[in-house]
Amino acid sequence: MEGASSNVNGPSNTYLQKKQRTEDKTRPAMLDFDVFDCPICSEPLTIPIFQCDNGHLACSSCCPKLSNKCPACTLPIGRIRCRAMESILESILIPCPNATFGCTKNVSYGKESTHVKECAFSQCSCPVPGCNYNGSYKDLYAHYILFSHPIEYINLPLKFDNSFIFRMEISKKILILRGLVKKLVFVVQCFKEPYGVYVTISCIAPSAPEVGKFSYHLSYIVDGYSMTFKSPEVKRVLEVSLETPREDFMLIPNSFLRGEMLDMKFRIKELKQE
Ligand SMILES: [Zn+2]
Ligand SMILES: [Zn+2]
Ligand SMILES: [Zn+2]
Ligand SMILES: [Zn+2]
Repeated sequence: MEGASSNVNGPSNTYLQKKQRTEDKTRPAMLDFDVFDCPICSEPLTIPIFQCDNGHLACSSCCPKLSNKCPACTLPIGRIRCRAMESILESILIPCPNATFGCTKNVSYGKESTHVKECAFSQCSCPVPGCNYNGSYKDLYAHYILFSHPIEYINLPLKFDNSFIFRMEISKKILILRGLVKKLVFVVQCFKEPYGVYVTISCIAPSAPEVGKFSYHLSYIVDGYSMTFKSPEVKRVLEVSLETPREDFMLIPNSFLRGEMLDMKFRIKELKQE
């Protein structure tokens, strides 16, 4: 008979147990992800997680909505954290939703959407109405070279920090600025409101370090006067919003408008990254 107990005594046994435990740490497991969703709003739980004295859970946005009263047992909820669940949550890593596009990062459960905004592999949408193109920010520049759209394209100067003048038709709503330097695409959007026109500029790219950060100066010129808007950072977006912006815009009042065209001066600067 094989001596099953011959090598399982003394210090070597402790070593064996420890080693097995270390290996266990990375052993795949089946998980029912429903238990990591808030039982009240069904959104993925994120830290902090709260519990009542009976151990019922609620996410941090549900607690104030429930007036800090547990819906299951009416005991107070929103003061005591559920540290055990928080550490379980921190230990769960799932592949980035862009794994199929090449991202190899694993992200904490419930943090995927935060990562996707910063993931260099996230897919960006073409903002031109009627175009359903989706692709990497690196391919967008080529998209505006290869395909024509019923809007205007303007090439950014070969060097950032050189200003240039462009005209935009308000009713067109969108103008594409192609930047050859880093093959980045910026989009100028106009929103006509009863009291004036909102103008905003964004870069169609994720907020990934490899994209870089930019600030800009935008001036509107009329009758020899100009008004300037300086933005400390161009917003980087995967998809432009079609809603009138609430922040980071220049508002040109109606009294400054002369017909359908806007004469603008634009200067973009790449910011040094820490
Ligand atoms: Zn909730
Ligand atoms: Zn309860
Ligand atoms: Zn990713
Ligand atoms: Zn397109």
